[in-house]
Amino acid sequence: MDMQRVETAVKQYRKIDSQQASVLTFFDAIWQAQDDISRSTPSVETMIDRDAAGDSLATHQPLFMLAEPSITLPEFLGAVHAISKIISEKAGLGDDASAALIDADFSAAIDEDLLGGALSDVDGFTSAVAEKLGADADEALTPVTVDFVLTTALTPFLEGPSAAIIKSLEEIDWRVWDSADCPICGTPASNSRIVDAGELQGSQRVLACPLCHAEWDYQRVRCTRCGNRSHENLHYLFDERDPGHRIHVCEVCHGYIKTSVERELDVTVVPQVEDVVTLPLDDLASSKGYSPLGEDVTD
Ligand SMILES: [Zn+2]
Ligand SMILES: [Zn+2]
Repeated sequence: MDMQRVETAVKQYRKIDSQQASVLTFFDAIWQAQDDISRSTPSVETMIDRDAAGDSLATHQPLFMLAEPSITLPEFLGAVHAISKIISEKAGLGDDASAALIDADFSAAIDEDLLGGALSDVDGFTSAVAEKLGADADEALTPVTVDFVLTTALTPFLEGPSAAIIKSLEEIDWRVWDSADCPICGTPASNSRIVDAGELQGSQRVLACPLCHAEWDYQRVRCTRCGNRSHENLHYLFDERDPGHRIHVCEVCHGYIKTSVERELDVTVVPQVEDVVTLPLDDLASSKGYSPLGEDVTD
């Protein structure tokens, strides 16, 4: 994460919208903690065979399956502890929820085996840990909180290896991937941005991964959830006072993705920051019956 760009964007948004200030303060603390963790994690050379990478992309296997980052248990537990502390102090949870998070014994719940399988099934990993901790939607410690802690703690260990893979494959044809799931770690894109790519190419859409922070191109007129390409079933929703932030919705699967239109925005566009400042759009989308990943419409 380029912390300088993050801080610039945070400052700009604080000025534009004071209602965002407290949520930005919380996430800014999270991003700084992630940055500290990733700085103290030694970087490793990534050797990935180009032909194997090409085959992997063509068969929809995320590249971490070829070159899995190694995460040691003590380092990961240290990250979980640091992130939990920030959440319990700054996320605005109630007293019970804060105390339950601080008391949660992650070191008893996570072992080498469980952590080793985390990258091939992130959701399976976070729900297994939540279950071991006795988290429940009706309890002070919820599965949503556990999932947030664990995925936030994973990112600093994945961001460097993800960037290293992308750099080592500089000239590879990423178009064969052809998916809105991250080509590196497999997580569905959390948001997209429309960038002006110059007169010849017009504008392009770039998707962002919330977990490893990879970015990749995707067709502009195509649902990121079901792949539908028909114009009449795809449209944007947005607040007229803020046309730079939109939700791209699909009438086939009722999925959506948040989209930042760079030419309409007078700020530094950083995907992680955009994801946070557009949280009100998630409420708007859900109030209209859309869900982040849509329904399964494959037949
Ligand atoms: Zn990713
Ligand atoms: Zn769709």
